[in-house]
Amino acid sequence: VKKIAVLTSGGDSQGMNAAVRAVVRSAIYHGIDVFGIQRGYHGLLNRDIFPMTIRSVGDIIQRGGTILQSARCLEFLQPEGQQKGADILREYGIDGLVVIGGDGSYNGANKLSKLGIKTMGLPGTIDNDISFTDFTIGFDTAVSVVVDAINKLRDTMSSHERSSVVEVMGRHCGDIALHAGLASGAETILVPEMPFDLDEVADRMKDNFARGKRHSIIIVAEGVGRGEDIAQALKDRHASIDARVTVLGHIQRGGSPTPADRNLASRLGDFAVRRLIEGESGKACGIINGELTLTDIDLVVNTKKEFDLETYHLALRLSQ
Ligand code: ATP
Repeated sequence: VKKIAVLTSGGDSQGMNAAVRAVVRSAIYHGIDVFGIQRGYHGLLNRDIFPMTIRSVGDIIQRGGTILQSARCLEFLQPEGQQKGADILREYGIDGLVVIGGDGSYNGANKLSKLGIKTMGLPGTIDNDISFTDFTIGFDTAVSVVVDAINKLRDTMSSHERSSVVEVMGRHCGDIALHAGLASGAETILVPEMPFDLDEVADRMKDNFARGKRHSIIIVAEGVGRGEDIAQALKDRHASIDARVTVLGHIQRGGSPTPADRNLASRLGDFAVRRLIEGESGKACGIINGELTLTDIDLVVNTKKEFDLETYHLALRLSQ
């Protein structure tokens, strides 16, 4: 490849900027021209494409969001839209594309790869719901936002001897709930991957309070349902359980990325460029047991991420 482009697509995540920076600087280091595409596939179809330099990615490694912005693009779901995208890239002489985003964005990259554009996917989402990578870019920061919020809730909840239901993001994936739950010492972690019994949860909370426990944190992954409904269901079982509900929402997607996310983004961005130069295409970059990996995007989008049972059971054991 001689000229590559980079775009961010789907929901944004902290660390996308660090990934864009790594792609741009690694490409320039290797003597390759690099273009930025504004607003994902929407910008591609609207020729919102501009050359990037070492300086265009200065002062962004520490920023959340994405300077390239993100968008959803319905036109790109159609074969005609995908063909138009490939044609526009060729018109600019661009033969390689790095797509930073989630599952949907990966599908788009896969289609372009089949139309002859060399593509690489980088996992940019807070949800950690992409298979063939232990972590996605943004997940670590989202978890730390949740843990920080729970620390604050704990202070006030224990003063008032109250329980707290905290609803967190993750779509159909329980990883944010699980990792934040383990790190914050939550008593109960409800995730869509595992069955649970609210009678048992309510009884345990009541027993814990009787034993002198002054507060209790219940983390609910959004894939399970609304925190409000869980709090009501617990109160219906034991009227004494008067849990306050906190829905953390989009603050989980914001803030300065943690060093772990910045470093993951930097490593993956550089890796994607080097593999494109070697001629790889239609691949998703990931990190498994600390090693950078490449997997066919086809396989990644058709494989559901395995739930980390070991960590789940650990969290349960420690939540007594
Ligand atoms: P997140 O999970 O963080 O929201 P995502 O990448 O899964 O990120 P989507 O909205 O699903 O977010 O996808 C982003 C864009 O990718 C879509 O708006 C569309 O342009 C493109 N896209 C999604 N699915 C496909 C597909 N099957 N074929 C081609 N393009 C697709």
